Amino acid sequence: MDEPRDTPPPAESGPRLPLATANSRLSPVQQAYAAYTGHAIACPACRDVDRTCPDAGELWTAYRAISDDAYAQLAEGTRSRNGH
Ligand SMILES: [Zn+2]
Repeated sequence: MDEPRDTPPPAESGPRLPLATANSRLSPVQQAYAAYTGHAIACPACRDVDRTCPDAGELWTAYRAISDDAYAQLAEGTRSRNGH
């Protein structure tokens, strides 16, 4: 009594890119930019030039704020910042 076992081994589609893990290793500026670009790629409103996407606007504003702050800290890294 031969019992055929046709169960194929689980197909492994190769190593996937762990995007979430990769993002956690990025700097805050890179994470903010990745959030903006990641949204823009998946958002239909962002792909339509005739429509404005408030989400993209917020993400872009957040990215600019973070990057501006980061650059300001780099520029004034050797000087003491007075106020914010
Ligand atoms: Zn969008």
